[in-house]
Amino acid sequence: MLRIGLTGGMGAGKSTVARTLVELGAVLIDSDVIAREVVAPGTPGLAALVDAFGEQILADDGSLDRPALAAVAFADDTARAKLNAITHPLVGTRTAELIGAAPADAIVVQDIPLLVENGLAPLMQLVVVVGAEVQTRLDRLVRQRGVDEADARARIAAQATDDQRRAVADVWLDNNGAPEVVEQQVRELWERRLVPFERNQRAGIRARADYRLVSHDPEWGAQARRIIARLHLACGASAVRIDHIGSTAVGGLAAKDLIDIQVTVADLDTADALAGPLAIAGFPRASEVTHDNPKPTPGDSAGTDTARWAKRLHGNADPERPANIHLRVQDSPGQRFALDLRDWLRADPDARAQYLAVKQEAQRAAADRAGEAAGEAYYAVKEPWFDAVYPTVTEWARARG
Ligand code: ADP
Repeated sequence: MLRIGLTGGMGAGKSTVARTLVELGAVLIDSDVIAREVVAPGTPGLAALVDAFGEQILADDGSLDRPALAAVAFADDTARAKLNAITHPLVGTRTAELIGAAPADAIVVQDIPLLVENGLAPLMQLVVVVGAEVQTRLDRLVRQRGVDEADARARIAAQATDDQRRAVADVWLDNNGAPEVVEQQVRELWERRLVPFERNQRAGIRARADYRLVSHDPEWGAQARRIIARLHLACGASAVRIDHIGSTAVGGLAAKDLIDIQVTVADLDTADALAGPLAIAGFPRASEVTHDNPKPTPGDSAGTDTARWAKRLHGNADPERPANIHLRVQDSPGQRFALDLRDWLRADPDARAQYLAVKQEAQRAAADRAGEAAGEAYYAVKEPWFDAVYPTVTEWARARG
């Protein structure tokens, strides 16, 4: 099962996109519908609201009078908190029930207008944002949905900004054009990314990247932040810290289009206990990998003991965002080296140039081979360089404290 979060500003076209996704086979969970359902006549939710705010929030037929509720519940922060304390758990429980009832191979789409405002993005394996210019949205709301313009403006102003939405958007669907244009984008997204993502996730398959170097992508940092937010949620207190490491974390450096993230844990048992939760969150484990290549430590013959360099590796099931998630034990040499190497490369332009040259050579070595042989050729060039700079990097980090 894959959980997709769908959001966008009022009038951007979420319902339009949701409809297309349902036609393609998605299971839609509409948070507005649920929010109405849990306070329908005869529900414990409506009874709780009447207890809290009085009979004045009821219409003559006994249903909820929304404007009347808004008048009392949005009057101040305390009243608003009281309202949320009643409705949020009910919506949460009902949402969980609906997700639980979806088939194991479902692509579940949660339409959540306030996904950004309520910080729900990390719960989703992928966040899709529908965007359109404010004026376009206002025109559509006024003309097609008969909303009062001043009212629509006020509500748009109270919502998250497009910049805030962009920060959580794994996919941004531009809906400034004709409906057919966005519908076509949705169909392509479904075939190209959502269907294979769900399949990978269910089968525990990691998306792979090839060995081609690409120039530094300014989006890598934001992509890493989104993955880190998901990992924090999946790992909870088991993660001591989570960092963006590797070449994609070094500004300006060319790299394979593969994001490296390090989850620091207290011990390997903790890492092993995270295998299940991470797989559910969309990050299946590579069970064949058990340690990093040990690096020789001058004056320490035990330094190359593989047990000291033990790690666990996970990947991202999303075919369009390959990522390696390294789980390493706090203060183990591999955990320190990942952070130190990144910081050394960030600090030293000569080191960056040297590393780039090595990567280019490694890429050339891998270019005319396929599959595992390409990987072996790539790492046969890169690993000796790591071994060679290991003492320098370690000493640099020690001196710097
Ligand atoms: P949301 O669910 O994000 O509030 P809707 O999907 O309801 O937005 O879209 C708002 C209004 O604009 C609806 O009446 C919808 O039919 C219309 N609409 C959506 N996309 C387009 C488009 N590309 N061109 C013209 N009208 C559109």
